[in-house]
Amino acid sequence: IPGGATDTVSGRVRVAVRLRPRNAEEMAADADFADCVELQPELKRLKLRKNNWDSDTYEFDEVLTEYSSQKRVYEVVAKPVVESVLDGYNGTVMAYGQTGTGKTYTLGRLGDEDTSARGIMVRSMEDILANISLETDSVSVSYLQIYMETIQDLLNPANDNIPIVEDQRTGDVSLPGATVVEIRDQQTFIELLRLGENHRVAANTKLNTESSRSHAILMVHMKRSVLGGEDEFSTENENRSHSVGNFKPSILRKGKLVVVDLAGSERVHKSGSEGHMLEEAKSINLSLSALGKCINALAENSAHVPIRDSKLTRLLKDSFGGTSRTSLVVTIGPSPRHRAETASTILFGQRAM
Ligand code: ADP
Ligand code: MG
Repeated sequence: IPGGATDTVSGRVRVAVRLRPRNAEEMAADADFADCVELQPELKRLKLRKNNWDSDTYEFDEVLTEYSSQKRVYEVVAKPVVESVLDGYNGTVMAYGQTGTGKTYTLGRLGDEDTSARGIMVRSMEDILANISLETDSVSVSYLQIYMETIQDLLNPANDNIPIVEDQRTGDVSLPGATVVEIRDQQTFIELLRLGENHRVAANTKLNTESSRSHAILMVHMKRSVLGGEDEFSTENENRSHSVGNFKPSILRKGKLVVVDLAGSERVHKSGSEGHMLEEAKSINLSLSALGKCINALAENSAHVPIRDSKLTRLLKDSFGGTSRTSLVVTIGPSPRHRAETASTILFGQRAM
């Protein structure tokens, strides 16, 4: 990883856990049973029940309960990342967890019926638009999915096999052919997310699979030109432009925000699946375990981040650098029936810290 530049941002991964409230089915079926977890948000602790009298305790950077609002989740999980993107760094927000535990609710809710329900993608864009000037700055987005190690453009389904290209000099990652749309207002962005979601459903129906079997990835590119003085320090991401006449030189500040709604982390039981389902499961396991290894390397400040093992980690390469910020939210459900999956999600989160 190139770099070693003035590192003002901690390289550590912030990890939050979020518990989904019981749904109607769980209320009925598990009425006589306690939830499989007990949260102590003020202590940032989670207790995973082993049996009626014993539990394991885990600590997280943040513990979000079934009562935590979408606003609070945004502020805790994503806002610090968005702020560093506005400062010209790269940042990543990811949701990991079993299907049905609230990854898409947390990241992707559009909330057009009720703005308080809006998720992290919409709130991030709102925050970015509020903090840039549309005269001098720009923000643009791409929306993609990775399915079976193939990258598909959710804004133009005809682009169904997008390559990943790494700049030999800067190490920056680009996706030639992916649709990039400039965003000037919130409503256009929401419509774009809706279009992408519709394309995702259509593409997955064609591939005969579920959305939960692919990773959805929103990329937000931000370019700001800030007025630069003589003594203004410059980071790797800033390029001074030539001064013309009496104008002060301005500095181009580039930041990239990547929001990843990961494929469901549930392990498909080998006995019950074969053929295509098994191939799908293998591919998901491969990319999630590759991601886990990269996040662990980041958490341990290891010099070697093994990005080569999957498309997902190659795509996130320039988000794993020393000045990037990463925030992970692991989502869990309350049902004692899924205790084993919940335990494995909690462990993924713990290893990332
Ligand atoms: P995933 O994307 O992890 O498969 P979803 O986000 O689709 O899960 O959530 C599954 C269901 O649970 C949806 O009906 C969603 O509206 C609901 N849900 C998830 N999280 C919450 C929450 N924090 N509060 C209320 N409902 C939630
Ligand atoms: Mg989902």
